[in-house]
Amino acid sequence: MSSTPEQRMSGAPFEPASALARLASGSRAGRLLHVHEVPARQARRAEWPSWVHPAVYAAFASSGVTSLWSHQAQAAELARAGEHVVMATGTASGKSLGYLVPVLSSLVEGADAPTGRGATALYLSPTKALAADQVARLQALAIPGLRAATYDGDTPQEERRWIREHAQLVLSNPDLVHHSLLPQHQRWAPFLRALRYVVIDECHIYRGVFGSHLAALLRRLRRVAARYGASPTFVLASATVRDPALHAQRLTGLPVHAVEEDGSPREAMTFALWEPGDLPGRDATGGPFGAPDGEDVDTSGETPARRSATSEAADLLADLVAGGVQTVAFARSRAGVEALAGSARRSLGEVAPGLEAAVAAYRGGYLPEERRGLERSLREGSLVGLAATNALELGIDISGLDAVLLAGWPGTRASLWQQAGRAGRAGTRSLAVFVAADDPLDTYLVHHPEAVFGQSVEATVMDPENPHVLAPHLAAAAAELPLTEADLPLFGRDARALVEALVARGILRRRPTGWYWARTDRATDHVSLRGSGEVVGIVERRTGRVLGTIDEASAHSQVHTGAVHVHQGETYVVTDLDLEGRTACVVRGDPGWSTFAQSDSAFDIVATERSFHWGPVTVSFGPVKVHTQVTSFLRRLPSGEIIGTHPLDLPRRTLSTKAVWWTMPVEVLEACGVEEPDIPGAAHAAEHAAIGMLPLVATSDRWDIGGVSTALHPDTGLPTILIYDGHPGGAGFAERAFDAFSTWLGATRDAIASCGCERGCPACVQSPKCGNGNDPLDKAGAVALLSMVLAWGEGAGSRKAQVTAAG
Ligand SMILES: [Zn+2]
Ligand SMILES: [Zn+2]
Repeated sequence: MSSTPEQRMSGAPFEPASALARLASGSRAGRLLHVHEVPARQARRAEWPSWVHPAVYAAFASSGVTSLWSHQAQAAELARAGEHVVMATGTASGKSLGYLVPVLSSLVEGADAPTGRGATALYLSPTKALAADQVARLQALAIPGLRAATYDGDTPQEERRWIREHAQLVLSNPDLVHHSLLPQHQRWAPFLRALRYVVIDECHIYRGVFGSHLAALLRRLRRVAARYGASPTFVLASATVRDPALHAQRLTGLPVHAVEEDGSPREAMTFALWEPGDLPGRDATGGPFGAPDGEDVDTSGETPARRSATSEAADLLADLVAGGVQTVAFARSRAGVEALAGSARRSLGEVAPGLEAAVAAYRGGYLPEERRGLERSLREGSLVGLAATNALELGIDISGLDAVLLAGWPGTRASLWQQAGRAGRAGTRSLAVFVAADDPLDTYLVHHPEAVFGQSVEATVMDPENPHVLAPHLAAAAAELPLTEADLPLFGRDARALVEALVARGILRRRPTGWYWARTDRATDHVSLRGSGEVVGIVERRTGRVLGTIDEASAHSQVHTGAVHVHQGETYVVTDLDLEGRTACVVRGDPGWSTFAQSDSAFDIVATERSFHWGPVTVSFGPVKVHTQVTSFLRRLPSGEIIGTHPLDLPRRTLSTKAVWWTMPVEVLEACGVEEPDIPGAAHAAEHAAIGMLPLVATSDRWDIGGVSTALHPDTGLPTILIYDGHPGGAGFAERAFDAFSTWLGATRDAIASCGCERGCPACVQSPKCGNGNDPLDKAGAVALLSMVLAWGEGAGSRKAQVTAAG
């Protein structure tokens, strides 16, 4: 490094207010929309529990931990008493100590047993990297008599056996439990017999369909452990979420105590909301395809109205780094991270030559030693700026940064606080800046600080009884140990019907002693924990190399024959999509145009499970079948010019899922100014924005959700807007939208109404995944439609209040 950041030389404490004032001056005036001050939190200490094993205490004490924060002690006491517990406290609040104190004490006590393993524990993390970090930290503690080991896909066969037979603490992931531990439980018998604790780290990650999978997996684990006489205590660690006890209860199927009061101290933080400036001219960056970042590229082909969050954050990062402010900038995708770091380096090259090397990109998937190297460079100060995806949440320890930039909404308030929590060192205030991306949710949030700061974090949404997830897990359970009548309640209300359906399909067989797996293949191979449905491999034609996979539903629209597909920053053309062979053959090269799939969608309402009326508006929730057929694709030049439409011959796909929908009579729409010919555009625009705003009320992102709108639906006989979970069987998002309907729709209306564009843009009603090329869209009609629905809702609310008062 030829140049040392000025501030580091002066040693002056970081002043977030003045740093922010510098960022918001000059040509960037007007972009800082709101500043929120987060007050400091005082430390609350607690005594070590009297029962802590002396060897465990000594190991922590010699590593510098001499007292506990209150939440650590509270969780440790509950777990020690055999109560299931979930800790939901902030980033860097030391949750691991909350489970390590009771777990390690029991394991070391158990080392005196005749078997040498009086107690065992299983630690599960969503990533291998996190488990590897944990084991490295445990080894550094050097507790005498403790045998801890990671057990994952990379563990060599010969080590596996030693681990099964000797390790007291096994650190693994859900995939390994599913594919290895449970199917081969006999080999794990001694470990399972002594199983005292199951630790589930980062448990907020298990939401939506992944959450349903984990819930089923943990029920299988509990059942198999019970067969060996064990009923382990579950200790879960979560980011701050709303109602963590309920989430943990759904995951484990057990009553769980929540520890939410964070006893660790925190310095004050200045949190800013930032809206990037408008693009100087419509084609200033060569249109959306010439945008320098590759992340916020709007695949609808419409020209964005303002600078992307990535470009803006790159500028802010360069300024902060030039000022010596240690900063991490979070982008939403890997491509965004590369673009952000690259653009920041270029800017630094102009204003502070020599400082380019002080900015790095963290791409995830790094080896532990590479990650340690990065941590070291940050600590030593040779690295001043880091761009990262939220992969950083899992597996790299950076603390003591001054500032955090968030390029685009990280999806949830929980993630926002988790990422912002990366900034802050003892004795110094910190800065966080949320930079809005060009979409309705981000636009709404920077203009509505109360939606960011005035509310607690979201509840985690998941459905442990999703039949599409549960059925194959029941089959896997039967393959592990025959299922009996007594097992059914563990798997929920519909378990019997699902088991009977599996018998009818010849997958299970009923015998006097229970239900048995009736096939010759492995039951667990039929379940993918991380997704749903079949996958299509993307194969490079020349080399036969598999570049990656894509789920079959997305394959139709993303890798159809003739599609231009960008994979990890490289452009490919799909020469052939073979659905039967589950491969898309690609050749590398950029033909100079982009492709956009066009599709037809329709839906059948299977049943209305719940509904309510707002005057003439009916809002419903229930199972639906959504039919989608990709019919053609467009080729577009970077200028936006369409150079051809090409038909495709792809089968219609049907998704059985859950949806929320609402209907409005034509005359009511006309009364609010939406004439009949304008209904399709108004409904379509409202649908797009509603999809974009759903993450405000549910922990989903827009790719988890789909929508269909129609001016006349055969099942309802009325104009209908439907928003559905994009996963078979549903994932809980649509139901959450139904429950929070007025909040959700109100925000959707406000997001569209407050957008400064004239006729609709990506920040309000255009969608990057529209199968109709964002046509028709009627922005004003959507505002009128949504205002009408909300007005009936207010009327319904006050009528209800009157009834309550009268009664
Ligand atoms: Zn707009
Ligand atoms: Zn659309």
